[in-house]
Amino acid sequence: MSASQRPADRPVDRHVARPADRRSPLVFDTRALGRRAGAMTTVTTTVPAPAGLGIEVIGVPEGSPIELDLRLEAVVEGVLVTGTARMRAVGECVRCLTEVSVDIEADIQELFVHDAASEDDEEVSVLQGDLVDLEPVLRDDVVLDLPFQPLCREDCAGLCPVCGVRLDDHPGHHHDDEVDPRWAALGTWDDDPADDRVEPGTAGPYNRPGPAQGEEVSR
Ligand SMILES: [Zn+2]
Ligand SMILES: [Zn+2]
Repeated sequence: MSASQRPADRPVDRHVARPADRRSPLVFDTRALGRRAGAMTTVTTTVPAPAGLGIEVIGVPEGSPIELDLRLEAVVEGVLVTGTARMRAVGECVRCLTEVSVDIEADIQELFVHDAASEDDEEVSVLQGDLVDLEPVLRDDVVLDLPFQPLCREDCAGLCPVCGVRLDDHPGHHHDDEVDPRWAALGTWDDDPADDRVEPGTAGPYNRPGPAQGEEVSR
């Protein structure tokens, strides 16, 4: 399966090492740490969000800022990266379609090992030379922090099922003729008042008299 066939929104399997791109703002060179366990450095930087960071209903807009506060530490097995990534995700309220934004603070804690072959865990991240690629890690962490059902507010009233206005913007909104929208079409079936007479003993649209024999019904 080539990269072009992979759906863009599917998280990349970390173990299938994609080549770390030095130019990616989420790839960090750890050469300066050396391989002496205990050496440590911190990175505080703001980088642009990669494309497709999110889920269908909400995500971090490509190019919007991600504030990284990281600690890179040489350990016996490789490099341990810990810290936080702060960003803003934007989506739509699932009830009323208003824009919703959510501040995300993802905790990062990832061990990048020197040599994947020595690890049984298939989910392990691997150092590529001296490079750590935080993008797959960030993807997994951010997706877990995103609301699957974003709401503009907890008790959003949604949209009027008849006319579609946003109910929170129109307190007390109602229609005089509270007709079930599925039956509303019947109200325009014909406009001859004479036809609105109901036979004695019948009521409502369910048993409205049908058209007379031979009469053409036009809708
Ligand atoms: Zn809403
Ligand atoms: Zn309405």
